[in-house]
Amino acid sequence: MQLEIEQKFRVTNADDLLARIANLSPQELAPVEQRDTYYNHPSRDFRTTDEALRIRRSGNGAVVTYKGPKYDTVVKTRPEIELPLAEPESWPALLEALGFGEVATVSKHRRRFQVTAGTFDVEVAIDRVDEVGKFAEIEIVADQSQAGEAQKVVLELAQQLGLGEAEPRSYLGMLLEHRETI
Ligand code: ATP
Ligand code: CA
Ligand code: CA
Repeated sequence: MQLEIEQKFRVTNADDLLARIANLSPQELAPVEQRDTYYNHPSRDFRTTDEALRIRRSGNGAVVTYKGPKYDTVVKTRPEIELPLAEPESWPALLEALGFGEVATVSKHRRRFQVTAGTFDVEVAIDRVDEVGKFAEIEIVADQSQAGEAQKVVLELAQQLGLGEAEPRSYLGMLLEHRETI
């Protein structure tokens, strides 16, 4: 199974970050608006089991994503299964019929930069997340045998990009916290 290996950081100086990304000779992909609706399982609480199920809709189409429990929380490392959806509008009814409950929808604008580091293709994203703020993510998708090496590469790139301490919370977690405090 493929693993998602990533770190997230709050962005305080976007111009400085963009300049540092430019030093990595990135390929910038088209920016996207992503709307992610998260669901909770009828008989296990995904907050407790550290899993996630969501439907993502964007200009590039729709995908369903399952994330499994993290193996490592310093550089978040977890199984990820992502599949395209031909008829995304039918899925909420299917999930609700099965007992999955809608948690919330996270909307963001994502700029995406592809960079090469060692043998890895790395995605650096700059996200403007509704109600949450501006963040950067560094992500590699790799299999288990390369996870340790990929984690090192993520940490090295974070340093090169001048990104400080990683943000351990998820966008959904931060959105729910924000809504509780208003
Ligand atoms: P991606 O990296 O796949 O593009 P993203 O960057 O938009 O996703 P993340 O914050 O990295 O969003 O991941 C979504 C997170 O939501 C996951 O870490 C998941 O564990 C978390 N999550 C899922 N369900 C819940 C829940 N009910 N309460 C709190 N957090 C949840
Ligand atoms: Ca992420
Ligand atoms: Ca990711």
